[in-house]
Amino acid sequence: MSILDQLTKTIAQVGDRAKFEAEKFQKTTRLQAEINELRRLIEQKLLEMGQRAYDLQRAGQIHAPSLAELAAALDQLRSTLVAREEELKQAQNEVYVPPTPPSPTVQSVPISEAPPASDAPKTCPQCGFQMPARAIFCPSCGTRVSK
Ligand SMILES: [Zn+2]
Repeated sequence: MSILDQLTKTIAQVGDRAKFEAEKFQKTTRLQAEINELRRLIEQKLLEMGQRAYDLQRAGQIHAPSLAELAAALDQLRSTLVAREEELKQAQNEVYVPPTPPSPTVQSVPISEAPPASDAPKTCPQCGFQMPARAIFCPSCGTRVSK
């Protein structure tokens, strides 16, 4: 076989191979599309059948415990759905409320009923903590600072 003959044969084989692959691709693509469509139709019919079964079950025309169970589960899901939709609506209507600025922290110190002798802050004799004149106990160490 001459080199030219061999080359011609190779080219022919490459052509056959390419044609085969192209046809194979076309065929598998078409089948895959048909399969997808059939799956979609089956799913759709199943949904319709489910809806019919639900309606018939609710109308009391069929009595099957497994259907009753499914219908009850559906009702449960539906009522949860309604509640969540309501929550969503409320959440969507919420508006931003800026936080109220924190009031300056006032140290809560028990104060005596008796009017103070002086308004000048007093100092704890025990630890030296400065506190309001009317404090009864030192807020730092707890020592009683008022009679
Ligand atoms: Zn003290």
